[in-house]
Amino acid sequence: MGIKQDLVYKIAKRWISGREMSEALETAKGVNKKGIGVILNYLGEDVTETPVAERHAEEYLRLQRAIADNKMDGCVSAKLTQFGLSVDEKLAIEKTELLARQAKSLNQMLWLDMEGSKFTDKTLEIYEDMFSRHDNLGVALQAYMKRSESDLMKLIAKGGKIRLVKGAYREPSDLVYRTRKEVRGNFTKLMKILFERGNNFAVATHDSVLIDGARELAKSHRPTFEFEMLKGIREELKAELVEEGYRMVDYIPYGDQWYDYSMRRIREHPSNVWLLLRSLL
Ligand SMILES: Cc1cc2nc3c(=O)[nH]c(=O)nc-3n(C[C@H](O)[C@H](O)[C@H](O)COP(=O)(O)OP(=O)(O)OC[C@H]3O[C@@H](n4cnc5c(N)ncnc54)[C@H](O)[C@@H]3O)c2cc1C
Repeated sequence: MGIKQDLVYKIAKRWISGREMSEALETAKGVNKKGIGVILNYLGEDVTETPVAERHAEEYLRLQRAIADNKMDGCVSAKLTQFGLSVDEKLAIEKTELLARQAKSLNQMLWLDMEGSKFTDKTLEIYEDMFSRHDNLGVALQAYMKRSESDLMKLIAKGGKIRLVKGAYREPSDLVYRTRKEVRGNFTKLMKILFERGNNFAVATHDSVLIDGARELAKSHRPTFEFEMLKGIREELKAELVEEGYRMVDYIPYGDQWYDYSMRRIREHPSNVWLLLRSLL
C-alpha cells in the first residue's frame, strides 16, 4: 500500500474491521458482548469472473460456519453481483441457494443487499423465488426508489423479510426521490406500512428522526423488528437502543475491497472528509 492508502486505511478502520475474516470475527465478538447482533459482509461487487465469484461464495460459506462455530449472534449479508449476477445469473442463483441452505441448517438469516437499480428486478425475482424455499432469507429495499412501495406491498403479502434502507447508489433522477426530505418522507411511509402489516423486518438507518419514528410506532404496534446500523456510526445511539430493550444489529464489512466502501462512508458525511484531509496533510 502507498502512504496515501495507508492513511486512508487507518481512517477506514472505523467502518471496516480489516482485510481478513479473522479480524471481522474478532470485531463481531466484541460487538456481541455489548448485546448487539452482527451482520458480516465480505466487501465486493460487480464480479465478472467465475473464479472470483466462486471465491466470494466460498468465503461466505466459511464465514457462516465460523459464526456458528464461535456461537455468535450473527449472520451474513451478500450482494448478488458478488456471485456474478451481471454475467452469469445461473451461477449467482446456484451460489445464493447454497448459502441460503447452509444458513438454514445453522439457524442463521441470510440477507441480500440491494444494489443499483439495474439489478432491482433480478434481485427481487431471485429473492421471491428463493424465499418460497428458504424462509430465513431477507432482502434490502431502498426508500429512495419510487418503486419501493409497490415492491414492499408485494413482499409483505408473501411474508418476505425486509431491511429498509435509504439507498446508497447514484441513480437516474426519474427513478428516485431526490431530496433528503423526500427520501426521509418515503422511508417514514414505508416504515409505517411495515409496522402496520409486516413482521420480522429491519429498520436500517442512523437518522434520529426515523429512529424516533420507529420508537413511536413500536408503542402501538408489536411486530418483531430490529434496528440495524453500520459499524463505526452512532455508537452511543446503538447502546441507547440496547438499553431500551430493542434488538440492535451492527453491519460489519471486511475484505480487500475496503477502499471504495470506506470512501462512500467518508463522502456521506462532511466531518469525515475533514478527518481524511487532516490525516493527509
Ligand atoms: C445495516 C445497513 C445495511 C444497508 N444495506 C444497504 C443496501 O443493501 N443497499 C443500499 O443501497 N444501501 C444500504 N445501506 C446504506 C443506506 O442506504 C444509507 O446509505 C446509509 O445508511 C446512510 O443513510 P442513513 O439512513 O443513515 O441516513 P443519513 O441521513 O445518511 O444519516 C443520518 C445520520 O447518521 C449519521 N451518519 C450517517 N452516515 C454517516 C457516516 N458515514 N459517518 C458519520 N456519521 C454518519 C449522521 O449523524 C447523519 O446525520 C445500508 C445501511 C445499513 C445501516
